[in-house]
Amino acid sequence: MSLDAFREEVRGWLEENCPQSIRTAMPQNEYPGGGRNATFKNPDTKVWLDRMAERGFTVPMWPKEYGGAGLTTQENVVFGEEMRRINARPAHLGMGISMIGPALLEFGNEAQKAEHLPKIARADIWWCQGYSEPNAGSDLASLRTSAVEDGDDFIINGQKIWTSGADNADWMFCLVRTDPNASKHDGISFILFDMTTPGVSVKPIKLISGLSPFCETFFDNVRVPKSHIVHELGKGWTVGKRLLQYERTSIGGIGGGGQKVASLEELARDYVGTDDAGKIADTSLRAAILEHRMNDRSFQLTMKRSIEESQSGQAPGAVSSMFKLYGTEQNKRRYELQLDMMGSQALGWGSDSAFAATELDTTRAWLRSKANSIEGGTSEVQLNILAKRVLGLPD
Ligand SMILES: Cc1cc2nc3c(=O)[nH]c(=O)nc-3n(C[C@H](O)[C@H](O)[C@H](O)COP(=O)(O)OP(=O)(O)OC[C@H]3O[C@@H](n4cnc5c(N)ncnc54)[C@H](O)[C@@H]3O)c2cc1C
Repeated sequence: MSLDAFREEVRGWLEENCPQSIRTAMPQNEYPGGGRNATFKNPDTKVWLDRMAERGFTVPMWPKEYGGAGLTTQENVVFGEEMRRINARPAHLGMGISMIGPALLEFGNEAQKAEHLPKIARADIWWCQGYSEPNAGSDLASLRTSAVEDGDDFIINGQKIWTSGADNADWMFCLVRTDPNASKHDGISFILFDMTTPGVSVKPIKLISGLSPFCETFFDNVRVPKSHIVHELGKGWTVGKRLLQYERTSIGGIGGGGQKVASLEELARDYVGTDDAGKIADTSLRAAILEHRMNDRSFQLTMKRSIEESQSGQAPGAVSSMFKLYGTEQNKRRYELQLDMMGSQALGWGSDSAFAATELDTTRAWLRSKANSIEGGTSEVQLNILAKRVLGLPD
């Protein structure tokens, strides 16, 4: 099918299937969650999720047999453009589709793909990430959670920290040490398990922004079948690192290329006012917004080009660190600017979500943006990767 014919088909399908209430900026309490404990404040969110999943559009580029639509990179670009045209919200978000799904497509065996990918595509299962430990954050390869062989199983003991959404998650993808005698990186394996497995317990951590989206997670003799290891035993670092590239590309893309949210210009006009010529009244603010817009545009184009150029249409390699670094710093600057222009009117505590994006939630969103350059690896760590892997500088 030609791209034009594909565009027409997708446009018609979206017009017919995207509920009107889903064509607006997403209030954060309508964030499209999923999993066994999913609740939907707006029933249309569920309708939209089911229709998109049925058509394979929650994971447009995944093969059809795993719940995707099998789109090519170019078709996927068209699909994204048509979604933006009607300002459709994403039907599904989270670590399933952006992190563990792509990693399984690359490293999972047939049984693992067949079991997990369709459930991820339909949001039946909600995933969390068991990487960081109290003494293994930036230096992740120092992790000590142990997995000891016992017949056909591993017995897992240890602790993870900052596990986002662990209190609601159904399954965890986890880095564990399977060989304490091997070198730091070689002794690590990548394993999957159900969070209801006996011995897994979760304790939420209270945050400055009010809610507690992340947790400490404890493992006390958790028995997991050996078949849940992804890729080879002792090769978990390879999988874990690749997954981080997917994560970094996804975090780097925050705030751009997706739905229309109130632009900085609109907010400035509302909160600072305009001069006689209709321009934003404050000239230095006007210059700052212009600079931000130009940087945003260049960044989005670079990111789009790079993803289109990458063979799989998925995350590029070490360059994902550049996206992560720049995208998160840019998002932080956005909220600094927003606070500047809103002044005391930014001091609202608009909704009860920690992931707010509208001006009603500026304070909370500003606080949340500070975490962007820490989660998924800090900005300093991204600079180290860029120096070593992209620029080839010596240690
Ligand atoms: C919102 C949020 C969500 C998260 N979700 C998850 C999750 O779901 N699962 C999970 O496993 N983890 C999660 N994390 C944890 C995150 O991955 C770690 O916080 C991050 O990797 C940094 O590790 P750390 O906190 O131990 O800091 P540290 O590693 O102790 O770093 C402290 C400071 O030292 C700097 N530093 C450390 N090493 C170097 C170096 N070699 N060169 C230069 N500077 C260095 C860092 O940049 C940082 O400024 C989340 C974090 C946040 C903020």
